[in-house]
Amino acid sequence: MNVILASPRGFCAGVNMAIDALEKAIVLFGTPLYVYHEIVHNRPIVERFQKLGVVFIDHISEVPNGGTVLFSAHGVSPEIREASVARNLRAIDATCPLVTKVHMEAVKYAKDGFTIVLVGHEGHDEVIGTMGEAPTAMVLVEDVNDVNALTLPIDTKLAYLTQTTLSVDETRVIIAALKSKYPHIIGPSKDDICYATQNRQEAVRELVPNADVVIVLGSQNSSNSNRLAEIAKQNGKSAYLIDRAAEMDDAWFKPSDTVLITAGASAPEEHVQDCVDRLRDRFAATVETRTIREEHVQFPLPRELRVLTNR
Ligand code: SF4
Repeated sequence: MNVILASPRGFCAGVNMAIDALEKAIVLFGTPLYVYHEIVHNRPIVERFQKLGVVFIDHISEVPNGGTVLFSAHGVSPEIREASVARNLRAIDATCPLVTKVHMEAVKYAKDGFTIVLVGHEGHDEVIGTMGEAPTAMVLVEDVNDVNALTLPIDTKLAYLTQTTLSVDETRVIIAALKSKYPHIIGPSKDDICYATQNRQEAVRELVPNADVVIVLGSQNSSNSNRLAEIAKQNGKSAYLIDRAAEMDDAWFKPSDTVLITAGASAPEEHVQDCVDRLRDRFAATVETRTIREEHVQFPLPRELRVLTNR
């Protein structure tokens, strides 16, 4: 068996920052410490923090008055920020700066009188947060069918934005459909799909022809991880999205297979290495890393923590 480790894979700058922020906040403020939504969409990470006394909440009213709340990497709507102020909470904003950029674009377009078509997945934390910036000016589309069903008058002043973790290929098709239906629609100079999502998809797209089976480390609710598994399946390969090596089944593999392993932007590297160890153990696998692109992006800690940690 040959194992190809895709690179880049795993943690992006936004996830690194959010995890770092939560670890620092625990040291500075102790527990219980509340996080609005999952800090990142990854089960093992959420479980690790739960064991440390972090409480993940879906309603800001679950935080006691005066408590400390950290907003996850996916961002929150202004309504949640205002509710935190009203409850006198100490709020730490670990929103990824690339998500904040989309929020700011939404605010600007809405202020300039545009109706905004957001391309994204209904119910995703990031989409809820972004739509909250201009709820009366935004409409969500998930696919080309939704674009076809839009009934906005043809002369509506229109702009589009996208969720950061979408499929690059599908988004291109959806934006083309929007431009065909509403030729005057404007959008960001580049779509809003983030560098990490694009690079991980590019690596899988490039390496998947060499593979028989693809393993994606990531949680079922992780948008960018799901997109990696989809690319593998669209290329006719068996692909499995798993959180941990223990979920692997030896029946998925033949001893002569080439197995491509990658990881979504919120999946810890230790679980990738556990998978490699297991394939070495069971199938005497040899391992090579194939780097498609280098990444050197880093984000600073949230402002509320920088002032306390001098970082
Ligand atoms: S996947 Fe992209 S947008 Fe999401 S946290 Fe990572 S860098 Fe930020």
